[in-house]
Amino acid sequence: MKHIGKKRTAAYIFAAAAVIIIGAVVIYDALSRTDTYETASVAMGSVLSVKIYGDNGEEAAEEIIERAQSAETQYISRYKETSEIYALNENGTGELSDFTAEIISKALEISENSGGAFDITIGNLSSLWDFDNEKNTVPSEDEITEALEGCGYEKITLSGNTCTLGENQTVDLGAVGKGAACDAAAEVLSEYEIDGAVISAGGTVLVYGENPDNEYWTVGIRTPEKDREDNFAALTVSGTAYISTSGSYEKSFEEDGVLYHHILSPETGMPAQSGLLSVTVVSGGGLVSDALSTACFVLGYESSADLLDMYNAFGIFVTEDKEVLTYGDMTCVFEITDDEYVYGD
Ligand code: ADP
Ligand code: MG
Repeated sequence: MKHIGKKRTAAYIFAAAAVIIIGAVVIYDALSRTDTYETASVAMGSVLSVKIYGDNGEEAAEEIIERAQSAETQYISRYKETSEIYALNENGTGELSDFTAEIISKALEISENSGGAFDITIGNLSSLWDFDNEKNTVPSEDEITEALEGCGYEKITLSGNTCTLGENQTVDLGAVGKGAACDAAAEVLSEYEIDGAVISAGGTVLVYGENPDNEYWTVGIRTPEKDREDNFAALTVSGTAYISTSGSYEKSFEEDGVLYHHILSPETGMPAQSGLLSVTVVSGGGLVSDALSTACFVLGYESSADLLDMYNAFGIFVTEDKEVLTYGDMTCVFEITDDEYVYGD
């Protein structure tokens, strides 16, 4: 009996100690876990998702969404009649806001540095193919020749904030809008003194500051196939970075066994054929990553090195044979997670 009593006392002490330890762990965990605020909306025809760690998350998120939506409606959309770019395309000239002028200026610089592979005056050609509205028709050669006549970034002039287009030119900022929205988001995060956040706008992701749950940020890279929504690789970065992916799996259609997609060659007027399924670019700027992923897709792996060097950017190229090539030495770790994809040499 005595013996049994001792055992029981020991069991009570053990149970009480366990309760105290578990309680302490729960309290420690609750204290150490940073608040997160998550929300999603739509901007520039894509999902805009926002995750903010720490205080002021809700206010900062609201402002990020508002700025992205007004960037579209007031400034850069070529579809919204309320935007500066719409008016510029209508009138051929216009006095732009600082916001739009800066985007045009940076985009023209990248147009030049990419040797015209990236070209914001591609508007007539984009409208002809009209992937945004799923026109899904291959234009005739004559139509392509006519649309290409207006194309040529060197014919635009930007003097101060006054922009003037060349004859029959239409500006299309579709390749940089989401990246520019991520740049604007970073400004908001800094204004609100946010420590860590992840913003995703279509194909561009901003990882900002410190990840409180981990030392690094890990971002999945979308499998470049139309019928898949998963990731084929993971990219690990520390601190702030912008990661943008452009691929032929996005807006596209197939006709007679040929895939026609929305990244167009300003040289041929046809969807760019550089042997790639997708390009992901990591850099220190949103507009830069977004523009470079489009430009590098047009240029192909071999011809992209100089451009990536110029912007101190890292590129991940997936070939049509599912080989994965990387270029650049930005401090990030890249890992393939799907064994259908292999490292190329
Ligand atoms: P997404 O907009 O799906 O993120 P991209 O950033 O690659 O993809 O941009 C593709 C869009 O950019 C096209 O839908 C078109 O509006 C425009 N575009 C297509 N080809 C070019 C090009 N060579 N240079 C500049 N813009 C382009
Ligand atoms: Mg782009």
